[in-house]
Amino acid sequence: MSAQASAEIPRAPLRVLSVASECFPLVKTGGLADVVGALPTALAPEAVAMRTLLPGYPGVIAALGPADPLHAFEDLFGGPARVLAGYVSGLDILVLDAPHLYARPGGPYQDPQGRDWPDNPVRFAALSWVAAEIGRGILPGWRPHVLHAHDWQTGLAPAYLHYAGGPRPGTIFTVHNLAFQGWAPAGLLGALRLPPRSFDIEGVEFYGGIGTLKAGLRLSDRITTVSPTYAREITTPEEGNGLDGLLRARSGVLHGILNGIDEAAWDPAADPHLAAGFDAARPEGREADRAALRARMGLSEEPESLVLGVVSRLTGQKGMDLLLACLPALLRHGMRLAVLGAGEPALEAAFRQAASAHPGQVAVQIGYDESLAHAIQGGCDALLVPSRFEPCGLTQLCALRYGALPVVARVGGLADTVIDANEAALASGVATGLQFAPTTAAALEGALARLAALWQDRAAWRRTQANAMRAPVGWARSAARYAALYRGIAAAG
Ligand code: ADP
Repeated sequence: MSAQASAEIPRAPLRVLSVASECFPLVKTGGLADVVGALPTALAPEAVAMRTLLPGYPGVIAALGPADPLHAFEDLFGGPARVLAGYVSGLDILVLDAPHLYARPGGPYQDPQGRDWPDNPVRFAALSWVAAEIGRGILPGWRPHVLHAHDWQTGLAPAYLHYAGGPRPGTIFTVHNLAFQGWAPAGLLGALRLPPRSFDIEGVEFYGGIGTLKAGLRLSDRITTVSPTYAREITTPEEGNGLDGLLRARSGVLHGILNGIDEAAWDPAADPHLAAGFDAARPEGREADRAALRARMGLSEEPESLVLGVVSRLTGQKGMDLLLACLPALLRHGMRLAVLGAGEPALEAAFRQAASAHPGQVAVQIGYDESLAHAIQGGCDALLVPSRFEPCGLTQLCALRYGALPVVARVGGLADTVIDANEAALASGVATGLQFAPTTAAALEGALARLAALWQDRAAWRRTQANAMRAPVGWARSAARYAALYRGIAAAG
């Protein structure tokens, strides 16, 4: 049979259960939600039929509306629970309705005062347990070939399957951020329904307790993380958060697969949050968006001054303290700064203070605002991402598509997605932004100086901007890689 003929034979759809604690647009605190929400659509052309299991937070239950239960548990870690099914925002979702665990105010992990719920280990063990049970076939008429778990919240799902024995789906565990490890005291072993033999260095044991992230990394068939560079970094003692030895030992099944962005939600030619549409072929509209952003955020009308944007959690990981340290240099270059973000109280206060000290030059909005995030991407000239570490990063991908030159630290996925405007890249016409290293205030200041110089060469700037807008930032390549991994571990049947 010729290769062409075999390519035309339709592949049988592969059933994949994705389980996570967040999923855009239903519940989101960061990039994890974007990725979990994007995967089903991205994988559909690869003949993967994905269902996504989520906790029944109040917002998720409300979005689902009336739904028939597919399965009921009399006692799921301390109370009755049901698995509900439905379609929301084009996603085929399963919702774990367990009021004793999830019917609470506040965010997915924290109470309204921002404190972690003390029973988080149990809340997410329950989610993982149910994912494993679905993997073992408890739902009528639907049994997945593959279970795909994300981050510490669902790291026990592969563990439950491992210790249950018997037929099971293939398991894949994606680490979106190694810094969040989901550690629980050893005394919870029984309460989390883990067998005594699991408390072992080859099992869930981690520094004398239960490591849920570690369990996922140790006991899944395949591990992925969200960029090739981060996949390498986390095998080093410097970036491995105590898990580098384990990751080195499992490097044969560790894959770095870049995230993409939703190209329909982030389309500068048809973005309802922008004053004017534009794209690489018709960049003119961007001027109006630039003016609109200045007006919206109260930045002074000086068309020659560069407007730098930030859309970020305001945390040390994101290097926001370094940006504050560079503020005097930034202002000396005549640049303006537009910041949208929320996070550590001290950083929020410092940015607020910077805005009141430099009205018209520094504008800051504290909080989460999807619409303003789009307006900043479409209206700023360059987007700053000075992260100390960055598994993949999504904001620089949005920035590329929106023609805001990303100025990024050369770490993780930032290193893999932005082509630095060095002499060679400019001469070859392939530059898409600026990279700097190491992640220090001095190196960021150096990048600002290079940015100011590039701005003076408007022709080179425009070429770089056009390259950025044409850079591939979607899911096509990565979806094919996930699908290939799934097919390699799929359970028969
Ligand atoms: P992380 O997941 O580490 O926070 P990513 O860059 O991977 O960082 O993803 C962040 C996502 O959250 C992006 O979609 C970004 O646009 C969005 N985001 C971050 N902060 C805000 C905010 N304050 N308002 C709106 N969107 C935000």
